[in-house]
Amino acid sequence: YGLRAYEYLSIYSSEVDTFGRRRLALVGALAQAIKNRELEIHIQPQFECVTGALCGAEVLARWNSETFGVVAPDEFIEVAEEAGLMAELTKFIVEEAFSLLRRLHEKGVMISLSINLSVQNLMDPRIVSFVVTCAEAQLISLNDVIFEVTETSMSDDMEAVISNLNQLASTGCRVALDDYGTGYSSLAYLSRMPIQELKIDRSFIGQMQRNTSDYRIVENTVKLARALQIQTVAEGVENENTLGTVTRLGCDRVQGYYLAKPMSLTLFDDWLMKRAG
Ligand code: C2E
Ligand code: CA
Ligand code: CA
Ligand code: CA
Repeated sequence: YGLRAYEYLSIYSSEVDTFGRRRLALVGALAQAIKNRELEIHIQPQFECVTGALCGAEVLARWNSETFGVVAPDEFIEVAEEAGLMAELTKFIVEEAFSLLRRLHEKGVMISLSINLSVQNLMDPRIVSFVVTCAEAQLISLNDVIFEVTETSMSDDMEAVISNLNQLASTGCRVALDDYGTGYSSLAYLSRMPIQELKIDRSFIGQMQRNTSDYRIVENTVKLARALQIQTVAEGVENENTLGTVTRLGCDRVQGYYLAKPMSLTLFDDWLMKRAG
C-alpha cells in the first residue's frame, strides 16, 4: 500500500495535522487487520412488527485494534473507502456472515442476514461472482441474504450500480435501501432499481413521537412502499412507544436498542438460548 499511503499523505500534506496522521496510520493498520482477519462481525436482531418474531439480523463490522483500541465503524469504513480497502473488507464480512448463516440454519435458527455494501462494492464487477462462489462454498441459499445499500451509493456510476444490483437480485438475494430519506436520490430510483426493502433512517424514527413532520415522513414512506410492494424496516427503535407507533403505521419489521442491541456472536448465542427458555 506504499503508493496509496503516499497519495493519501499528499492530500493532507498542506495541513500536517494529527487528523491526517491518524488516518494514515489507520490505513496501514486496517489493511493489516483485514489480512489477518482481526475484524469481527456483530449482529443486531430484527423482528416482525405484528408477531414479534425474530426474522433476521444485520451484520455490523467491528474492529478492536491493538494500536488504536475500538475504532467506530463509521470511521474505519470511511478509511477503507478512501484507501481502496473496501473490496477486501467486504469479502471478509461476507465470508464471516455466510459462515454464520450456515451455522444458524444448522441449529434451526431460520433467519435472514442483512449485509451492508458500500459504493465501491457496487461498482466492482467482481462482486456478484464473489457472492455466488462464497454462497456455494458455505452451502447457503442467497434467498436468505439481504444486501443493504445507501442512497448515496447511487450517485456515482448509476449504470454500473444498477447493472450490479440487477445481477445480485437475479441470484435470489434481496436488496434493501438503507438510511432511507437521508440522501438526495429521487423517488424514481425506487422504480428503476430492484429494491425489495426500505430501511427508514433512525433520524426520522427517533424523533417521530415529538416531531410531526418526521411522523408524517415515516407514515407516508410506509404508504409509498406498500404501494410499490416494498417491505419497510424501522431502524433505531429505542422505546415502546415508537415500537407501537411504527407497528400501527404498518412497518413490516423493526430493529433497535429497545428490542436488541448489536451483539458479538458469543452473546448472540446466549441471547438465543435465553429466548428459547
Ligand atoms: P447502518 O448501516 O445504518 O447501521 C445501523 C447502525 O445503527 C449501527 O451502528 C447500529 O449499532 C446502530 N443502531 C442500531 N440500533 C440503534 C438504536 O436503537 N439507536 C441508535 N442510536 N443506533 C442504533 P454501527 O454498528 O456503529 O455502524 C455504523 C455504520 O457503519 C452503519 O450504519 C454502516 O453504514 C457502517 N457499517 C457497519 N458495518 C459495515 C459493513 O460491514 N460494511 C459497510 N459497508 N458498512 C458498515
Ligand atoms: Ca445498514
Ligand atoms: Ca441504516
Ligand atoms: Ca448509516
